[in-house]
Amino acid sequence: MKLFLEKLEITYLKGFISVVVWALATVAIAENYTAGAASIVVTPPAGTLLAGYGRDRLSSGMHDELFAKAVVIHDGLQGLAIVTVDCIGLTRPDILMIQKTVSRLIPDIDANAVIISSTHTHAGPDVVGLWGKNLWSNGRDESYMSNLRRKIVEVIVTADDKSVAVTSQVAATNVIFNWVENRSEPGLLDSVMSVVQFVDMNGIVIATLTNYACHPTVLGGDNTFVSADYLSGFYRTMSTALPGEHLFLQGAIGGWVQPLQGDRSIELARNLGSQLGEKSIQLLKDAVPNPFYPIRLRHQEFDIDVENWRFRLMMWLGVLNRETYDGAMRTESVWFQIGKTEFVTHPGETSPAYSIASRKLMTSEYGFVLGLSQDAIGYILKPEYFSDEVSFPHGEYLRTVSVGRNAGPTLLDVLGKIVPSKSGGDVSKKVEID
Ligand SMILES: [Zn+2]
Repeated sequence: MKLFLEKLEITYLKGFISVVVWALATVAIAENYTAGAASIVVTPPAGTLLAGYGRDRLSSGMHDELFAKAVVIHDGLQGLAIVTVDCIGLTRPDILMIQKTVSRLIPDIDANAVIISSTHTHAGPDVVGLWGKNLWSNGRDESYMSNLRRKIVEVIVTADDKSVAVTSQVAATNVIFNWVENRSEPGLLDSVMSVVQFVDMNGIVIATLTNYACHPTVLGGDNTFVSADYLSGFYRTMSTALPGEHLFLQGAIGGWVQPLQGDRSIELARNLGSQLGEKSIQLLKDAVPNPFYPIRLRHQEFDIDVENWRFRLMMWLGVLNRETYDGAMRTESVWFQIGKTEFVTHPGETSPAYSIASRKLMTSEYGFVLGLSQDAIGYILKPEYFSDEVSFPHGEYLRTVSVGRNAGPTLLDVLGKIVPSKSGGDVSKKVEID
């Protein structure tokens, strides 16, 4: 009720009538809050180039299906879609196409309110282009890609069609697994697990969204079987315990948050994912109501100078297929709020330092930091990684897959502008990373 009282207080200063109007509007919105969820299989056919690790790795079978999963939420006035895709990381050109089609098909969903996040499995298709047969060939299968875009639109529309009146609950806490480590900066982790759930008026769960940060890389570079990696175990555990759809929102995994890899087997991956699912279910026992207010969303496009010559070469070769603007890569970040749950999106694999800083910007204790969302521009590292004076384990590799030194500071600057201050105002805020 905290937000309600704050809002009431502010509005009251403007006069009694506006209090009444606002209160009535809130009631109307709460009654009209709906959610729907759906999933669709997006497993590529055998013979598809797989992403992550080395080039020219063709799939030869399947451990488990890959999914695109969507939840669509309406507040009675506007809608918002949150989508997760089991793949290495959908990039902005594909996401812009999907957003445009969705906003045409569902008029009260603005293109910018279609949030698309990737789980980052390294046993899925090359949706970026970097893992082709050789250095100069693009690894994307364009017929699979157009099919994938069509399926993502379809799953959003299906979720929207299934919308029913809902209530919501949310929980968040620190969860430390002994199988998650930051290999370049031991101890630097954002270990917050956040879970938000939408439940219909009969108490049936429609969708559960879990946010946590760790690379899905239990399966290694020798594996040629398609899989969502540890999320395979997560999905199984969640669906055994709860009805509805189970979305996993990947967090800040850059710089370099990895799981225990052991024998790199699917059994180990499923075991770890199952632990993740069990924690999420356990956390829901402490969930609190997530009251409904109008959905709020703010986004900003921004440009990052492409300092990395490898990225420039890849773009020149057409292996990385995206436009540049005066030598800069254009991407975006989004802040949105559903009830008392706040979300920010990062367009790549951010260092946990940026996730922790994002939480400092948000006022809600129920914050979600979505990595690899609205884009996948590679690693977003702390500026020290580009200094010759400091050396981090794996730092050299991470630098080769990062746009450059300015990516992190630019992102933080943008988030400082789009995340509203506690008073709801637009004051630009500065936070430092630890
Ligand atoms: Zn990665």
